Amino acid sequence: MIKELQLRVNLIEERKEDILLFKAAKKLDIARTEINAVKVLRKSIDARKKDIIFNYKVAVYINENIPEKSDYTFDYKDVSNAKEVHIIGFGPAGMYAALRCIELGFKPIVLERGKNVQDRRRDLRAINQEHFVNEDSNYCFGEGGAGTYSDGKLYTRSLKRGDVRRIFENLVFHGATEQILIDAHPHIGTNKLPKIIQNIREQIIKFGGEIHFESRVTDFVIKNNKLQAIQLQNGTEMAVNSVILATGHSARDIYELLHKKDIALKAKSFAMGVRVEHPQEIIDQIQYSCSGERDELLPAAAYSLVHQVNNRGVYSFCMCPGGFIVPAATANGEVVVNGMSPSRRNNKFANSGIVVELDIDKDFKKYEDFGALKGLEFQKDLEKIAFFAGGRSQVAPAQRLVDFVDGKTSTNLNETSYQPGLKSAPLHSLLPKIIGGRLRKGFAAFGEKMHGYHTNEANIIGVESRTSSPVNIPRKENLEHPEIEGLFPCGEGGGYAGGIISAAMDGERCAEAAIANL
Ligand code: FAD
Repeated sequence: MIKELQLRVNLIEERKEDILLFKAAKKLDIARTEINAVKVLRKSIDARKKDIIFNYKVAVYINENIPEKSDYTFDYKDVSNAKEVHIIGFGPAGMYAALRCIELGFKPIVLERGKNVQDRRRDLRAINQEHFVNEDSNYCFGEGGAGTYSDGKLYTRSLKRGDVRRIFENLVFHGATEQILIDAHPHIGTNKLPKIIQNIREQIIKFGGEIHFESRVTDFVIKNNKLQAIQLQNGTEMAVNSVILATGHSARDIYELLHKKDIALKAKSFAMGVRVEHPQEIIDQIQYSCSGERDELLPAAAYSLVHQVNNRGVYSFCMCPGGFIVPAATANGEVVVNGMSPSRRNNKFANSGIVVELDIDKDFKKYEDFGALKGLEFQKDLEKIAFFAGGRSQVAPAQRLVDFVDGKTSTNLNETSYQPGLKSAPLHSLLPKIIGGRLRKGFAAFGEKMHGYHTNEANIIGVESRTSSPVNIPRKENLEHPEIEGLFPCGEGGGYAGGIISAAMDGERCAEAAIANL
C-alpha cells in the first residue's frame, strides 16, 4: 500500500537520520519495519515564524517496494530520413521543439546564430574582461539560448498551459538532479546547465536531427503568403515547409525584419528597471530572523516583493540568492544587466531585478511613430542611457540604494559581483520618471515589508531591461502566424513564454503544430 502524507520537521529534527521514517510511522500508527521506503515528493521551507519548518509531502511504501521507473518515458526515434521541420533558435523553446519532433518521428533542422556551450564561454569572458560583445554569442545568444548561463530557476506560473512535470522529467532524463522534481522552488544553477544542454544536443544528433551553429537567419523568402525558404548570413538558402521561430526576446533583427516586410506584429506591455544587490547575509538575516550566518541546513534565502505605485506594479524579478550579476547586452553600445547563480548558491551576494510594469498603450507616447516596435525603441534608449552613464563600456551605472531613494549621487559604491565593474551615476535622475519615480517609492515600501532591506549596503545597478519581449508575434489558434503560412512564432520571442519552463512547453506545442502543417 502507498500512503501520501504531509510531515513537518523543525531544524533540530532535520539533522536526525531517518526522521521522515520515524514521523511517518508515528503518524500512521504502524511499526517502522512495515515501511519499505519513504519517498519525498515535495519539500519546501516555511521561514515565516522564528521556528523554521521543513514541509515534506511524502509517499510511504507500506509492505511495498518503490517502483524503479518514472511514469514518464521519452521514446526517441531515428528521424534521419523523416520529413523536416526547421527551427530557428536553440534556446529552451527550440531545444524542446526539436526533441518533440524526434519523439513524433520528424527531423528537426535547427539554425542557431550562436556557438555551442563550450565555445560560447570565451565570448562571455570577452564581455566581462574586454567589454567586447560578440553580437551572435553572448549571455542571450548561443546554444541553450538565454537559459544556459542563467540561474536555472525552474518555477513557472504557466501550470495550466501544459505538462510542467514532463519538462522536469525530461531535464532529469538529460542529466539534471532528481532534486528538481522535489523542491518547491527548483533550481539547476549555471555551472550544471551547460552539461544538460550538451546532452540534449547529443541526443538530437544521435537520432538524426541537425543543429547548425553560427547560422544566423537573416531573411525569409515568402511567396503568396507562404514561407518558401530561409536565408542565412553566409548566403545559404534553405527550402522550408514548417518553420518554428524561437529566436527569443533579444533578437531585435528578427523583429525589425518582420516589421520591414510588413508582417503583422504587435507592441506588448513589459517591465523594466534595475537590479539590486545586497550582501546575502543581510537577506538571510531578514528572512530567517537570525543574526550572523544562517544555519548550514538552510539555503541562501530568497525573497519576492511587490508594491503598487501609481497604478503600476513594482516587483522583484528573477531573484538570484547567492548569485552574480551579469552583462546581458547583445550588442556593443548598450548596457543590460541580469542575474544568475551556481547550483550551490554560495556566492556572497543576493541580487534581484526590481522592475516597473509598463503599459504599452500609455507609456510610450513619444515612440508612437515606431508602431509595433515602440516598446523596443524605448528599451534600446534606456540601454543606451546606461551605456553612456557607465562610461561607454560594459561598466554599469550604479548607486547605493538609500542614495537612489533619497535622490543623492553616491560618493562611492559597495563591492559587487558584476565583473565588468560599476561607476557611480545619478540613476534617480537618469532613468525616465515613469520608471525611476516608481522604483524609488517601491524600494522605500520594500524597506517597510522587509526590515533591513532598505540599506546603503545595497547597490542598484542599471538597467534591467530584458524581462520579457516588448513585441508580440501574433499566431492563430493552430499556432501559425495569421498572415504567413508555415511560420510558427514560438517561446519568449513571440511573447508566449516568460522563462525556461514555459518556453520549453511552448516549444513542444509548436512542434506539434508545425508537424500538423506538413
Ligand atoms: P532564448 O533562450 O532567448 O533563445 C533564443 C535563441 O535564438 C538564442 O539561442 C539565439 O541565439 C537564437 N537566435 C536569435 N536570433 C536568431 C537568428 N536570427 N538566427 C538563428 N538563431 C537566432 N528564466 C528562468 O525560467 N529561470 C531563470 O533562472 C532565468 N535566469 C535568467 C538569467 C539570465 C542571465 C538570462 C539572460 C535569462 C534568464 N531567464 C531565466 C530567462 C530565460 O532564459 C528565457 O525565458 C528563456 O531562455 C527563453 O527561451 P526561448 O527559447 O524562448 O528564447
